[in-house]
Amino acid sequence: MIRPPIALALRAMNRFFTPEKPLTFSGKGAMIKLADLMVRSGSKRPLIVTDSFLLKNGMLNGLLDFLKQEGCDATVFDGIIPNPTFAVVEEGVAAIRKGRCDSVFAVGGGSAIDAAKVMASASTSKKPLDKLAGILKVDQPLLPFYVVATTSGTGSEVTTAAVISDTKTHKKTFFVDPKYMPIAAAFDTGLLVSLPGPMTAGTGMDALTHAIEAFTSRARTANTDRDAATAIRLIVEFLPVAYANPGDERAREMVALGSFLAGNAFTRAGLGYVHAISHQISTHYNTPHGLANAILLPRVLRFNKDACSERFAELERMLLGSTDQPYAPDQAQRFIDRVDTLAETVGIPVNLDDIQQKDFASITKDALAEARSSYAVPKVMRKGDVTKILESVSTGSWAVNFA
Ligand code: NAD
Repeated sequence: MIRPPIALALRAMNRFFTPEKPLTFSGKGAMIKLADLMVRSGSKRPLIVTDSFLLKNGMLNGLLDFLKQEGCDATVFDGIIPNPTFAVVEEGVAAIRKGRCDSVFAVGGGSAIDAAKVMASASTSKKPLDKLAGILKVDQPLLPFYVVATTSGTGSEVTTAAVISDTKTHKKTFFVDPKYMPIAAAFDTGLLVSLPGPMTAGTGMDALTHAIEAFTSRARTANTDRDAATAIRLIVEFLPVAYANPGDERAREMVALGSFLAGNAFTRAGLGYVHAISHQISTHYNTPHGLANAILLPRVLRFNKDACSERFAELERMLLGSTDQPYAPDQAQRFIDRVDTLAETVGIPVNLDDIQQKDFASITKDALAEARSSYAVPKVMRKGDVTKILESVSTGSWAVNFA
């Protein structure tokens, strides 16, 4: 079988460039343990990157008290917005220069983490921001970079990528470089328990999407399969528990670890059409990333069903605890049904009201271009397939007739 060049490129990057997972702290108080590591490593003037909601709600109070007590002169940048833009990153870089910051410490979801990655890079580089966009463009070591992940979805705390939105072109711009891997990351259950239900659902389904797209990628390896499968097991079991009982710290921690493993799998094996389409939807309508993925996932699973029948069946047998059973095609459909049920259990809507037919052509064109240039997909979509998915997202049901 001839593999498309993108699968080969991902394998090469994975093998020769991608660093190991960052050191992690998890459980109640993990944020302070991470801050302690940063201070012991010599940081005196960190830039804390977060959003105004988390700051105003006192979620960083313990961190700021700790840093003060340690004699650090921290600068707080709370200008993060969902789907952060180039302008947000520029503001953060200005804050780093003004505060003469010697490290970057992100507290938040993928938006804070991604923007912080690019701030940590742009502040040490002589290149303008747009020249850092793309693959392997980082020319200088980043400022030491630490992450407290508070949403359990994007896996950005373990990926070599950052996604920044370009408000002029309506496109998400990718920054991909092994140097974006943080030194260390924390999952603090004291913060995770306050994630509201719809965010818990959307980000958890985002993590599930990462794991499934990595597990079915043509650039997968034995290691990415292991991490993706473990992530799927953790998310399928614990996401409904975290959604139903937001204060359940064990469930929160397990979903966070699932998200971390899914991130580790996809940063090596790559993603697929759920992400290729959802990125365009988010830039057009500012749809939260996790929600857009969650709505698309059941549709794209159906598109991939014939190409991935054995892989889906393998996951179903794993989830049933019957890995010794032989393959049977109906196991693949049962896995898809299981994902539908999970989405429904955590309240994912079947349709997206914002989506408009007039945008279908440009969403389709950009989604196909993103997939072609970035992902080792198991089966190639044509324009008509994407249009059918968009039509079904606009009005239909999970089932799409691709015939
Ligand atoms: P987000 O970071 O945009 O956060 C969404 C909202 O959740 C914010 O308003 C925030 O205040 C709130 N929030 C965060 N943690 C909370 C908590 N514990 N309690 C209460 N509220 C909380 O959402 P996200 O889904 O984590 O990140 C989406 C972004 O990540 C997108 O820009 C997407 O493109 C990017 N992304 C990056 C990667 C990567 O590898 N770099 C992968 C996937 C997605």
